[in-house]
Amino acid sequence: MRIPRPLAVVTAAAVASLVACGGGVHGTPGSSGVRDPYFPKAGNGGYDVGHYALDLTYDPGARHLSGTATITARATQDLSAFNLDLKGLDVEKVTVEGRTSRFNRAGQELTVRPPDELDDGETFRVAVRYSGAPVTITDPDGSEEGWLPTADGALALGQPTGSMAWFPGNHHPSDKATYDLAVTVPKGLGAVSNGEPTGERTARGRTTYTWRTPEPMASYLATVAIGDWDVRRSATGAGIPVYTAVDPEEARASRDLPAAVAEAMTWAQDRFGPYPFSSAGAIVDRSGDVDYALETQNRPVFAGTPDTALLVHEIAHQWYGNSVSPRTWQDMWLNEGFATYAEWLWQEDHGGDTAQETFDALYAGQYYGDEDASDSIWAFPPADPPDAAHISASPVYQRGAMVLHKIRQKVGDGTFGALLQGWASAHRHGTADTEDFTAYVERSAPDEDFSGIWEDWLHGDGRPDEP
Ligand SMILES: [Zn+2]
Repeated sequence: MRIPRPLAVVTAAAVASLVACGGGVHGTPGSSGVRDPYFPKAGNGGYDVGHYALDLTYDPGARHLSGTATITARATQDLSAFNLDLKGLDVEKVTVEGRTSRFNRAGQELTVRPPDELDDGETFRVAVRYSGAPVTITDPDGSEEGWLPTADGALALGQPTGSMAWFPGNHHPSDKATYDLAVTVPKGLGAVSNGEPTGERTARGRTTYTWRTPEPMASYLATVAIGDWDVRRSATGAGIPVYTAVDPEEARASRDLPAAVAEAMTWAQDRFGPYPFSSAGAIVDRSGDVDYALETQNRPVFAGTPDTALLVHEIAHQWYGNSVSPRTWQDMWLNEGFATYAEWLWQEDHGGDTAQETFDALYAGQYYGDEDASDSIWAFPPADPPDAAHISASPVYQRGAMVLHKIRQKVGDGTFGALLQGWASAHRHGTADTEDFTAYVERSAPDEDFSGIWEDWLHGDGRPDEP
């Protein structure tokens, strides 16, 4: 049978109009990473998360976690499939816009195939129901993160990749989001997180705690601390709510913690500008449960009661790292250089060594007691760690702070003080990289030449010839 010509023409026109209005098969899978130079599989392409709603139940005796993560995101391309990062745990069900979706897993990648493709710009909701024994991750540098079982519960820490051990998400600092967290634990235990507590109810031998983080947060800064907590609520001089949770073993040593938090916050606001979040505080676990501190948003986690320098360091991160987050893990020096410099400034402002004296001692190799530690700060340039095992090594901290001090020497105290505040304000609740920073500094003092500082201190190998 002969097909009449007019019909063929009509069909071609119909196909053309379908393509033009966005129907048919057009989407492609989102990428499985965001090309982070150190963690190429971290994060995922094709969408941007706006909000995580995590509803979790944890049984410390059985070390069993179950939950549902409901993620609201916006597609940034036409998507036939997209990935979430999740390490360990069993995925029981995935829905997209309420409809059951196919999924498969390979390593840390959970690939979701929605029944209908997602259009570029479309907001969608994906819910993942999962359970199992969450894993502890050993980082390339040997430290432990992810889900850490503790003497009386568990602690979640996520720098740089640990958050994928307890909830699926877009686990890269370049995609920040707000959070609602509900955690159900056996009655008698507490559960502390970021943001502000919004409720607590007990039924049938279990208590559910709810927390809300209204400001954007990089997922590595999310925490939940389950255990027996000595909770105190207070406020800073400026009226910012302070919520501290202390392991009873540390209660005596942490007696003055709320006052110390308030004092450090008041100083930091004076130095760094308006506090970017709606509450502050600290979580002090017993040492042995964890062996390092982390600047988890609003409420840094400490392994034992912190000394003033460490408290100041983690509070400074709320501006530098948490509000202004690194665009990739290569930009860690923007976190650690600033937080270390905050320690130097605190000392200077409180009758201790000036930042110049600290800088001079580091340059002369007299800051640390031993030679290896003194030499280690020159191992690599702060803006270019050699590999993932070195993103938290001493050059990132000390030499990062030295870069800031070189800038201060060049521009003077007044401009430098304004620059510290201006940088925090310009990228508040965002992300920034090293190039953003150098461009910002150059704009702040257009008559100065910073090229020597960038070449020798920020990007140069070895110890610069001149201090
Ligand atoms: Zn730090």
